[in-house]
Amino acid sequence: MAALLEADDVVKHFPVKRSLGEIATGRHPAVHAVDGISFAIESGESVGLLGESGCGKTTTGRLLLRLAVPTAGTIRFDGQDIGTLAGDDLATFRRRAQLVFQNPFEALNPRFTVLRAIAEPLVNAGVPRADHQARVVEAMRRVNLADVDQHLDKYPHQMSGGQLQRVVLARALVLEPIFLVADEPVSMLDVSVRAGILNLMRDVRQAMGLTAVYISHDLALVRYVCDRTLVMYLGKVVEDGPTEEVIRLPQHPYTQALVKAVPVPHVDQSHEPLPIKGNVPDAKNPPSGCRFRDRCPHAMARCASEEPPLREVAPRRRVACHLLAA
Ligand code: SF4
Repeated sequence: MAALLEADDVVKHFPVKRSLGEIATGRHPAVHAVDGISFAIESGESVGLLGESGCGKTTTGRLLLRLAVPTAGTIRFDGQDIGTLAGDDLATFRRRAQLVFQNPFEALNPRFTVLRAIAEPLVNAGVPRADHQARVVEAMRRVNLADVDQHLDKYPHQMSGGQLQRVVLARALVLEPIFLVADEPVSMLDVSVRAGILNLMRDVRQAMGLTAVYISHDLALVRYVCDRTLVMYLGKVVEDGPTEEVIRLPQHPYTQALVKAVPVPHVDQSHEPLPIKGNVPDAKNPPSGCRFRDRCPHAMARCASEEPPLREVAPRRRVACHLLAA
């Protein structure tokens, strides 16, 4: 199947304020949020970006939607470099690629009714006003907001968290995109409604043939909804493969630790602390060689001097670790 999206050696650094010492020595410190990641996503695929806070997964999602501009590298969507899009081409990309917000309580303007909230992308895209209500109703039906007429004039404070997340999803679908990025789509919801929203997202994705990227720290979530998972650590992809294989037979020591923390993953299961020492290192000064070496139980001398490339270790499996070097 053809790749809908291709990221090629993408880097995103955020400059930070310099200290007096850094000014004196001419250093320009930056947070290395994403540091050279390459992958392709096929049309119709559902891909998880998995990792701890600060691993670069949210920045990657923003780069894929051109909500942030790469420091280096290119992202192609349907064959076009999204960094070069302008005018009508950029407007078309904005319609085709949508973000599902993490926090429905913040994503919706409290002064907007449901109708107005879901119609807002139509207004921004210049869709004739006469078409708005029909398209909003269609989007609400897609997300199983039953009794559409009852909900159209409600305000966010009159709805439950699960209903609000359905409104957020309807808003992302109203322009009939082909690509969705969902950033921690259920993390702010009560445990009792999470599985329902994830089932809905899976059903909607399949019914509309959407390509999707789910950003999460939650192994159980990606197992539930993603065909394939990219594990990220400190701005790098360290493992990539079909989700079930990555979870049943994790190859990278970091993925192994993530899997050990949730032995029998369920969407609503609580998590054990990661069975590895220390915390994620400072992204302003990532370690030399392998970025996981300070926490890795298998680290060896080579790991400090040589960065392990993300290499294919089996069909559709890539891992960045010297232990798996040919
Ligand atoms: Fe551990 Fe070395 Fe592999 Fe990094 S390259 S994960 S430090 S063994």
